[in-house]
This record gives sequence, structure tokens and C-alpha cells, in this order.
Amino acid sequence: MKIFKFGGASVKDAKSIRNVAHIVSLYGIEKLGIVISAMGKTTNAMEQIVETLMSKQEALFQGYVEERRQFHLEIMNELFHDKTNPIYTDVLEVFRSLEIKYKSSPRLNYDFEYDQIVGTGEILSTKIVSAFLNQQGFNSKWADATTLIQTDKAYREAEINWEKTTALFQSHFIPQFESYDIQITQGFIGHTDEGFTTTLGREGSDFTAGIMAYCCDAENVTIWKDVPGMLNADPKWFDDTIKLDSISFREAIELSYYGASVIHPKTVKPLQNKKIPLYVKSFIDPQADGTVIQSSTVNDQLVPSFIFKMNQVLFSFTPKDFSFIAEDNLSDIFNRLSAANAKINLMQNSALQFSILLDKEKVNIEEILALFKDIYHVKFNTGLELVTIRHYDQATLDRVTINKEIILQQKTRETARLIVRQKTKGIIIP
Ligand code: ASP
Ligand code: MG
Repeated sequence: MKIFKFGGASVKDAKSIRNVAHIVSLYGIEKLGIVISAMGKTTNAMEQIVETLMSKQEALFQGYVEERRQFHLEIMNELFHDKTNPIYTDVLEVFRSLEIKYKSSPRLNYDFEYDQIVGTGEILSTKIVSAFLNQQGFNSKWADATTLIQTDKAYREAEINWEKTTALFQSHFIPQFESYDIQITQGFIGHTDEGFTTTLGREGSDFTAGIMAYCCDAENVTIWKDVPGMLNADPKWFDDTIKLDSISFREAIELSYYGASVIHPKTVKPLQNKKIPLYVKSFIDPQADGTVIQSSTVNDQLVPSFIFKMNQVLFSFTPKDFSFIAEDNLSDIFNRLSAANAKINLMQNSALQFSILLDKEKVNIEEILALFKDIYHVKFNTGLELVTIRHYDQATLDRVTINKEIILQQKTRETARLIVRQKTKGIIIP
């Protein structure tokens, strides 16, 4: 069995969905599991639907639901020649149950309600793609991820119950391949043992492909992207990027940990555990080679990789009583940071100061100041960038520091990390 994963960009309109069918036909595969995300920007739209449900803005809520209904219906009208295809009633039913949530939902807790609604985007996309593949002559079955992937109750960031999920795939998914060549399921969602829907965190559909591969002992996984593979830098910040042809699981985990955004960070571990190769390939040029992520580390050193995080804020905490930064106040600092839900990109300490770097967009500076002010002096600096270079050398360090002031740097044998700031443009006096 092989697994394909198509993200939101690869199913964003009718033309893209036709391309999915084209890619599947190129491979002529039997026993293919396909994981699909919500179409285009649907997850963001679903988030607005949740927001307006929770803040009781009925007109806006109905407006967003209607807008998404039209979006999906327009795509369907381009794909299906037979307007009596049962997919129409199926999709309209999904929207009807979404709509009545406004009247019926007890609106318990934000994260819970979020998970009951946001995955609707994936339900819709998988139903439509599955029906389309069948119209095109494939033998495909829609599979409900909320009966396969079992999680805990940590809504919006649910953890997988691997044992139960494996058992569910083995008993309810694999046997279906006796009757179907292809099974299509939703990325990003799972269910609790009480049967409520959970989500695995934004961009979690890649992870679903990894889970499915692990539970089914798949031969390999292919993630289809709008880039030719994993590149050594984000083309947004770099002109001459290089594609990585082959890297190890370990290297892929390091790169995604530091912020390379091509694959979701949790995806690789289950694949590494079972040595299942992961291909990252272009849906625009499906016959090109792409990147393979596998066990061998021999090619990891070949190309230096660059990961940039913009708009960073650096906080420094100094105990007011001049106590050392040691284990006890480190644990106090971490407790406070975890209460503020801070996700640390880099940290460093001296005798009296502990510094952390955070994404400015994800942090409430006032909240951090308030949380620490009783026993720490807190300083912060904004307007910073974090650059991580894997397999660096002097030339690569020079390249990323042109016109930059280095605020802090950390180096290990394989990785250099620099916090930099754009030099202010002064007038050069000859
Ligand atoms: N649709 C979800 C999101 O946009 C999951 C995914 O695309 O991976 O976050
Ligand atoms: Mg997506």
C-alpha cells in the first residue's frame, strides 16, 4: 500500500482536482490511501465560522457559511457533468448540519466547538474528490478519519493513541482494499473515545499521512506540493535555492524543527520509526524526482540549508534579588512561560540573565511583562530575525549577515543560529 497526501493548494479549484486525478492515473496504483486537506483557504474560513458562532454574530456566521457553500458548489459544477450525482445532496447536507449548529450548539468551550466545526473543510474536500475520481472511472471509497484516528481530548492539539489507531486501521481500513483500489480520507482530524471530533493542530494533514503509513505499514508516502521538493531555503527569502535530492529522517526532523515549513514537524517520526520513505514532490511537475527522506545520512552534508524566522522578539529576565540563573529559577521561568503559552525559538543564559526568542505575532508582550514583573526585571527587543544554518561554513555565515548586526549567536558542529537585526541605514560620510 502507498500513501499520497494532497494539501489545500493542490485541491483549491476544479483544475487542481483534475490534476489530482491525473497524478493518480500516472501511477496506476492499486491500494492507494489518499489524505486530503480542506480546499484552498477553507480552514481559515471555517475558523471565521467558529469565531462568529462563539461571539454570537448570526448574520456574519450565516454569511460565511453561504460563501463556503457557493465556493464548493462552483467547483462541483465544473467537475460533475451529472447534476443528479449524489455528491450534491451529500455536500448540501454537510452545510445544513453546519448551519443548524447556530441554533443548536450549546457553545461549551471554544476549543471543543472549534474541533467540531473546522474539520468540515476536510469532510467536504474528501467527499468531492472521491466522487470525482469515481466519475473518472477509478474505484475509490471515502473513509471517515473520525472513525480511524483515535486521540486524547486535547482539543486543537490532540495526541494520537497509537495502539488504538493502529487497531482501527488494521480492522476497518486495510480490509477495504479487497473491494476498492483507492481510499480517500481527511487529514487533520481524529476522534476521542467518546466519539467527538478532534484536530491535530494547523497544517496537521501531513501528520495524518505519517500516522496512516505507520498504522498500515505502508511502502512509502508521497506529499504533493507546489514546490519541486524540499529546498535548502524558502524561496521567499532566497533567490538561488537548491533542491535537496535525498536527506535522512533525522535531517528532515531537524530542518522542520528549526522552522522549514515544507512538512509538518510531527510527520517524520512515525515514518522514521518504521523506516518508511517519504517523497516530497511537485504536483505541477509530477514526473520530476522531488526529494526523498529516508534512513541514510550520507547526503545530509552536501548542501547547507537556511531557515529564516522574521519578526522575532527577544526577552531577557534578570532575577531582581541577583540570584543565579540555576535549576530552581529556570523551572520557575519555564512554568511562567508555559502559562503564557510561549513557544520558544531559541534560549540562552548567563549568570544573571535568561533570554528567550519568540515569534512576535504569537506573543502578548504585555502578558509576559505582567507575568514576570514580581521578581524579575524584564527587557525586550523587537524587529529581530532568527537565521538557522545547517551544515554552515564561513561563506554561508557571511552571506546571511550582510548589512546585519549580530545580536546573539550559537554554534554546534552542524548548526549555526544567529539573531540579527537590519543595520540602520546611516549616511555614509566619505
Ligand atoms: N486544513 C488544515 C489547515 O489548513 C490542515 C492542513 O492543511 O494540513 O491547517
Ligand atoms: Mg493546508
